[in-house]
Amino acid sequence: GHHVSSQRIRFQRRNMPCRYDIDRFTPSFLSIFESLVPSQEEIAKQKQLLTSLSRIINKEWPNSKLYLYGSCANSFGFSNSDIDLCLSIDDKEMSKVDIILKLADILQAANLRNIQPLTRARVPIVKLMDPETGLSCDICVNNLLAVVNTKLLRDYAQIDRRLRQLAFIVKHWAKSRRVNETYQGTLSSYAYVIMCIHLLQLRRLLPCLQEMEATYFVTVDENNCAYFDQVDKLNNYGAHSRDTVSRLLWAFFHYWAYEHDYTKDVISIRTGRIISKERKDWTRRVGNDRHLICIEDPFEISHDLGRVVDKFTIKILREEFERAANILQFDLNPSVTLFEPYVP
Ligand code: ATP
Ligand code: MG
Repeated sequence: GHHVSSQRIRFQRRNMPCRYDIDRFTPSFLSIFESLVPSQEEIAKQKQLLTSLSRIINKEWPNSKLYLYGSCANSFGFSNSDIDLCLSIDDKEMSKVDIILKLADILQAANLRNIQPLTRARVPIVKLMDPETGLSCDICVNNLLAVVNTKLLRDYAQIDRRLRQLAFIVKHWAKSRRVNETYQGTLSSYAYVIMCIHLLQLRRLLPCLQEMEATYFVTVDENNCAYFDQVDKLNNYGAHSRDTVSRLLWAFFHYWAYEHDYTKDVISIRTGRIISKERKDWTRRVGNDRHLICIEDPFEISHDLGRVVDKFTIKILREEFERAANILQFDLNPSVTLFEPYVP
């Protein structure tokens, strides 16, 4: 029946080597990458906004500190994306919600626009627009784990340029195909970057920084975050490998379409290996965590970045991985077809 033959197709595809002419497409993929990278001018504007907001907020809270995090600081951000900021503040008197409300007042008085405090969100934030730079941003409070994982991603990106190339193309694919929407049950950009890092660790293009002797340590809400962060000493790490962005893209989608064992495996950049669902006790649904695709957070290790995926969206995701793998294997124009918008 249909089931048997589709199993057979899957099996055959799994053993298929990469097409011999994959590198014909490398220039096109690299030019897509270049077109998505933010300009120096844009990066300077982001810094300017950080400086002016820090000045405003420090007047009220002299001991606070404002950090950039997320895509504008982890080096995986596209041009024209929103800015994520995190205010670190040690005020035992005030709750997070009170801080958010007071922050909104301070920003209002300083003439920032479109100020919206969202106090009931899972992560409470203030949204605003800066008329000077035209940039929009979200400010959250005391979410330091996000600041630390931002640094980890940025440090990995410095080791081998192919990580950034791969992750940009994967994010662009995910946005085009509408599988980058956590509120719809698909994966965050953060999760896709972790999936790319893991693939490059398996292929020995990247080391596992958390398994090396730590040169950077912080403790955030009981989580010990420690890793080797002198990455300028590692910039020859992947030099032995001639993998190009096209081959890595093929490997990425082939892995998630045909090689990953969804019933048993957890990917873990903390260890640089695949670990078992059994060992993490992620074999069944617990509350809202379904563990249908398992991606361990590097610091909050009880946190599965795939937990938002449900029994409907896992099918959509796997079909999209297969579609992408097949395009890279067979299509005449993969650098176009891969990003064709999803039409419901
Ligand atoms: P985009 O370009 O799509 O805006 P982004 O890099 O800002 O991408 P998001 O997924 O919006 O990615 O995440 C922003 C930041 O928030 C991440 O860099 C990470 O620090 C943190 N983050 C997001 N999701 C999680 C999560 N599930 N667990 C821990 N930290 C997360
Ligand atoms: Mg973002």
